[in-house]
Amino acid sequence: MVRKRICPKCKSMDITNDWSVANIAREFANPAFRCNKCGFTGTFFPETEE
Ligand SMILES: [Zn+2]
Repeated sequence: MVRKRICPKCKSMDITNDWSVANIAREFANPAFRCNKCGFTGTFFPETEE
């Protein structure tokens, strides 16, 4: 069972960690994620089980 992050906007699973955003906002412990498909960036991406 593998947990995958999905884009909340377009449901794509093509997600990468966006550490540049995390470095800018260092008060936030969680890294941001970026969708490679639609370009959506955020700290909360829902997980799905596949
Ligand atoms: Zn997306």
